[in-house]
Amino acid sequence: MISIRFVHVFKPSLNSTICLPETCSKESMEVIRGPSVISSLPQLPLPDSDHSTGSFNDPLYHSIQNKLYGKELLLNELEVTWEDLHPLLESGIVSIRSGLLPLNKTFRCHRCYTDNPKMFGRAPCSSCGSLCTYCRHCIMMGKISTCTPLLRWNGPSPVNSPHPHLKWEGTLTKGQLKAAQALKDSIEKEQELLIWAVCGAGKTEILFPGLQFALSKKKRVLVTSPRTDVVLELMPRMQKAFPNIPINGLYGGGTKKDPPASLVIATTHQTMRFTDTFDVVVIDEVDAFPFHADDSLLHAVYKSKKNKASIIYLTATPSEDIKQRVANEDLSSVVIPRRFHGHPLPVPRFQWSGSWQKDLNHMRLPKSLQKWCAHRIENGIPALLFVPTIEILEKVTSILKRKNPHIQGVHSKDIKRHQKVSEFREGVVPLLVTTTILERGITIPGVDVAVLGSEDNIFTESALVQIAGRAGRSSSKPHGDVVFFHFGKTKAMKKACQHIVKMNRREEGK
Ligand SMILES: [Zn+2]
Ligand SMILES: [Zn+2]
Repeated sequence: MISIRFVHVFKPSLNSTICLPETCSKESMEVIRGPSVISSLPQLPLPDSDHSTGSFNDPLYHSIQNKLYGKELLLNELEVTWEDLHPLLESGIVSIRSGLLPLNKTFRCHRCYTDNPKMFGRAPCSSCGSLCTYCRHCIMMGKISTCTPLLRWNGPSPVNSPHPHLKWEGTLTKGQLKAAQALKDSIEKEQELLIWAVCGAGKTEILFPGLQFALSKKKRVLVTSPRTDVVLELMPRMQKAFPNIPINGLYGGGTKKDPPASLVIATTHQTMRFTDTFDVVVIDEVDAFPFHADDSLLHAVYKSKKNKASIIYLTATPSEDIKQRVANEDLSSVVIPRRFHGHPLPVPRFQWSGSWQKDLNHMRLPKSLQKWCAHRIENGIPALLFVPTIEILEKVTSILKRKNPHIQGVHSKDIKRHQKVSEFREGVVPLLVTTTILERGITIPGVDVAVLGSEDNIFTESALVQIAGRAGRSSSKPHGDVVFFHFGKTKAMKKACQHIVKMNRREEGK
């Protein structure tokens, strides 16, 4: 157990005050404050990045540079000692700040940016031996306590980005082109932009020209999504489009230790370790869980970007806040109301189905839904049936399995989830019952979509728009049936329908 205390010393050669571990300070140094626990020392101004370097040409310098550039990490994540770091600390290339910032009645965690008092616990601390407050919110990335320093790289960038060759040979539709141009403009002017693109508009392709432009200007780009599925799907597509650009793909459990790249595709959680590093941040599905529910995640994304940077919000269903910002002319936006194949979005039908919960208790489906399912199965039309809860999912699946044992149900806690979805894709599973986990990101050609209990609160306007957006996505089968089976229409159902009708009426390029 080593009690690590820190001092502030004035460095005449840098003409500024730096923070050092007490063990690294020398008698000749002018100690201004400390020694003290790091969180009790006042915050020093953050040094400029690209701080000029001495000549450090040893392998340790490059290893630390590769690990630490653009991030803030714990000492043990760097796998070095304070002695190793000493020359870099003294020259200002690496700096230290407290992991937790004491605020009036709470703290702010400098990694995940939460300041919710409920997120901080107090416990005997194994690193300093006293009672420390720590952040519960990001503890899965290693504990940050009041005694924990975060290390930051202020030296030159190790990223050596080649000129990007865009190897994508498709053509953009009129709407996609307009959005791609707006994206390029925002990157050039370092501004924010909302790209409101209907489900199936071809969002990834819209990004290609803008990303090529950014990478050719040596900008560092982050594409982030709350969902691992999206990161996994984007990685190969981006790599195929930019074959000569190294890409870092970061997601829970899959984080490789590649050297830093100019293009990073990461889940939102993984962005917490980054700080002041990206010139362009593309936030995919900004309204999706858990992004929408967890405010500190948005702060973590903002922390990862440079002071002057462009932020691109990409979504089919912008939240009220974002729409309000557009209405106030606080955020510019571009709308793509057409799918890439030019056909309109399927408009949902409403089908009253009485007290369907009673039917389920008698182990049967409402007649109308029974008929709908039977028709899809007889005619070999793949069908997705959304239900509000796992409990209902289990009932509905067992009722349907009596008619056809190949029918399956999936939910977030289902370990066979990926296997069942791929069997549905292959046609082995004719009908898939699902909770809202499949509301985004799934594309099955020719699928018909139904919702049972669409009056449930879980089916918000945006959830229903996304669900309806599963149908008619392929150019060979651009139409599809979408039915909301309900026991009373809700506002969300009506608004979802209006949303879709409005998009269909909107002319492309306007
Ligand atoms: Zn935290
Ligand atoms: Zn401690």
